[in-house]
Amino acid sequence: MEIKKNYINGEWVESVTGRTRDIICPSNEERIGITTESSAADAKQAILAAKSAFYETGEWRRTCGQVRADYLYKIASKIEQKRDELAKMDTLDNGKPLREAQCDIEDAVACFKYYAGLITKPQGGVYEVNDGFGPMHSYCMHEPVGVCAQITPWNYPMLMSVWKLAPALAAGNCIVFKPSENAPLSTIALFEIFDEVGLPKGTVNLVLGNGPEVGNEFSESLDVDMITFTGSTKTGQAIAKNAVGNLKKVGLELGGKSPNIIFADADLEGAVEWAMIGIFFNAGQVCSAGSRIIIEESFKDVFVKRLIERANAITIGPGMENPDMGAIITKEQMNKILSYIETAKEEGATLVCGGARYTQGECAKGFYIRPTVFDQCTSDMKIVREEVFGPVVTIQTFKTEEEAIALANDTPYGLAGAVFSTDGARALRVVKEIRAGITWINCYNPTFNEAPWGGYKMSGWGRELSVHGLEEYQEVKQININLAPGTI
Ligand code: NAD
Repeated sequence: MEIKKNYINGEWVESVTGRTRDIICPSNEERIGITTESSAADAKQAILAAKSAFYETGEWRRTCGQVRADYLYKIASKIEQKRDELAKMDTLDNGKPLREAQCDIEDAVACFKYYAGLITKPQGGVYEVNDGFGPMHSYCMHEPVGVCAQITPWNYPMLMSVWKLAPALAAGNCIVFKPSENAPLSTIALFEIFDEVGLPKGTVNLVLGNGPEVGNEFSESLDVDMITFTGSTKTGQAIAKNAVGNLKKVGLELGGKSPNIIFADADLEGAVEWAMIGIFFNAGQVCSAGSRIIIEESFKDVFVKRLIERANAITIGPGMENPDMGAIITKEQMNKILSYIETAKEEGATLVCGGARYTQGECAKGFYIRPTVFDQCTSDMKIVREEVFGPVVTIQTFKTEEEAIALANDTPYGLAGAVFSTDGARALRVVKEIRAGITWINCYNPTFNEAPWGGYKMSGWGRELSVHGLEEYQEVKQININLAPGTI
């Protein structure tokens, strides 16, 4: 099996450590790849390559928007050509159903195209400044931030990489990148595409390895101008602390414990189906997962009965066979979810569905958990307060609108949330009160390249996607020109 290497300054290179890492398929525990395992020294080399490409050669940042857009379109079209191969890679690497991985690849293509289009549109502005200093012309322009370090998780291996790389490249930055060590294969293939389209040397650099060793170098380095990270809140806090040395810009897309508020006038079937997508899609390994169902008391029994019927009907299996739900990423993550389930039982939550490892048939190997529902939950329980990152949902009830809002906001997180009701004014009133960056009415989880993605409170800093996502990777410079006669 070929050892996948780092990509530094336009060359594929092995780590200075000589160490390697086996990449394991969570669906059957088989080895599907080997990567080089990097150290801080490799990260340093990559950072220096990006620094030199940005500050010395400056080739990428000096290209005009149209040229960068052309590269981004070429990248999109190469991803499109390799869509089947890339989707299969994410399915094997992450365990998700193939059709979900196919959607991820389509979204990745659309994301590159979106930023290719956006970077050719007008940016900056002209200001009507006062004439205290005489006649002046004042305008501003957007410039790339510089060397951007980017770190991603494993739950959407390709998509999380693209959400960061596409806007950062569009803006003209040079990049050092570390994908999750648990699912790096499609990101490596993406860097092969970067190599094929001939991005200037040092523009994009890939360092494969574990979080603390490579990640700490990224966050601490005085040569990195910005770090953007998607992952757990705990790691995000460590990154923010490390970043103070040179006050680099920090972008954080972190965890969540998002409320799904359901009123008694909601359409039963619709609310159940969306709630299922909210918590069981990608086996619940979704930052925005609707992991807390907060339901009007009079509607609970009928809703929970139907939810259990539907959850029990979910097919579980290896992603390549396109089940409803695939595997959990690693044995450690599976055990962590199982231990949350045990604690919930000890704390008095009522297990009404699932609650165990799934080992039938082909699933005897691999890491599978049955869709799990806990009823009779209270806000002080660990299962309600902490992010489980698995197919586990809690049920809490309310009697009034105010109570629903209070329960929804009783969390340190603020990533997402939803409201289900056929009373439009009420749905809009309640969604306005949810302290979260991404909200839905009568649906759960639809995500768009055109709309900003990110959290309030401990779910992060900044936004990805949309115009906001591009602006995160830009500095804004004002330029004031003296128009007094004879000055220019
Ligand atoms: P994680 O924090 O363990 O790891 C994420 C990445 O950070 C990996 O590449 C890892 O190697 C790296 N890392 C680990 N320690 C590091 C350190 N000290 N310095 C720098 N990098 C380090 O998270 P995970 O388990 O891979 O992903 C799951 C988490 O990601 C969940 O909390 C989920 O909510 C979050 N997530 C958030 C979003 C969002 O958009 N808000 C999207 C997807 C996932």
